[in-house]
Amino acid sequence: MANHKLLLLAGDGIGPEVMAEVKKLIAWMNGHGMGTFEFEEGLVGGSCYDAHKVSITDETMRKAEAADAVIFGAVGGPKWDSVPYEARPEAGLLRLRKDLALYANLRPAVTYPALADASALKRELVAGLDILILRELTGGVYFGEPKTITDLGNGQKRAIDTQVYDTYEIERIGRVAFELARKRRNKVTSMEKRNVMKTGVLWNEVITALHQREFKDVQLEHQLADSGGMQLVKNPKQFDVIVTDNLFGDMLSDIAAMLTGSLGMLASASLGEADPKTKRRKAMYEPVHGSAPDIAGQGMANPIAMIASFGMALRYSFNMGKEADLIEQAIAATLDRGLRTADIKSDGMTVVGTAQMGDAIIAEMAKLTG
Ligand code: NAD
Repeated sequence: MANHKLLLLAGDGIGPEVMAEVKKLIAWMNGHGMGTFEFEEGLVGGSCYDAHKVSITDETMRKAEAADAVIFGAVGGPKWDSVPYEARPEAGLLRLRKDLALYANLRPAVTYPALADASALKRELVAGLDILILRELTGGVYFGEPKTITDLGNGQKRAIDTQVYDTYEIERIGRVAFELARKRRNKVTSMEKRNVMKTGVLWNEVITALHQREFKDVQLEHQLADSGGMQLVKNPKQFDVIVTDNLFGDMLSDIAAMLTGSLGMLASASLGEADPKTKRRKAMYEPVHGSAPDIAGQGMANPIAMIASFGMALRYSFNMGKEADLIEQAIAATLDRGLRTADIKSDGMTVVGTAQMGDAIIAEMAKLTG
């Protein structure tokens, strides 16, 4: 069986607490013939600043480049609020995304049946929801030049951000969307604002042409991003894969996140270009939540987003869909048993800590594999 080389970067706050549950899971899988995972660990964020005065070292970056996948916890906290801007904890995360050229950000919104009542929407709208928002992560208005604030000299200033997309950037994220859809329910919804933005016109054109050329078997529809946002809360189950640019993706993925209830449940993946020889993509997997300084060190963080992020690594980096399904089933079964961390507790449920939740998920995996 192939060796899978992981770099674990736990980070700050609850990062190390939830990463500990992934380490337990890796040990369990290695011990049960479900892969041979090897991992190294490194510092990132505030903890790296404390040791090295930077938020990630060049050595850790080299390890990230060499790993088959990076598993990332969370960074930041009030302790580092006044460190120099270039060394702030988030800079380590941004450098990883930039240097590994992770242009495709996958944010699944999955509502476990046991938690359907935790959503802000009605149970029937979200129970059984399983959609994937694919956000372009390295282009668009967050990076386009010029990006300036100019003093106009008359008591006024002018701020400029520039939305830029080239054909290749749209095509490569589109290709990821169609390929993902083929492994799911075979439907892609592309969202832009072609009615008012030139980048929207090109986005629509490029996605349509790519579909015609290479992915005619996948159902494609286009929605304007604003009405797409409305549809996401009106009838979210109409979607399978939504593909959109950096700015709209930032907003639409946060809207989709709230369909599922809690930050502690949300996993994500960021993928880069596939290596022409090995076909493997550079990849990083991380929970959506931050370092939660308000609960750090208390053993009460929800490890599900972190564990589900590791599950995404199995699916997207290691082609281990069956094992990824098993993790999701084990999470669902644990919730069905009535176990909850404090962030998702409700009446009549049993509140457990981080480690107990991790142990319970592994116990369910053991049951499911008999
Ligand atoms: P946060 O996600 O850390 O916390 C928001 C709220 O959700 C808090 O009340 C927290 O206790 C709760 N929460 C988050 N994850 C949880 C979990 N797994 N289990 C239980 N409860 C959970 O966001 P914030 O408070 O805005 O930011 C805190 C720090 O994290 C800041 O320094 C911020 O810059 C950083 N941050 C980092 C990342 C990242 O590393 N990717 C993302 C967002 C924020």
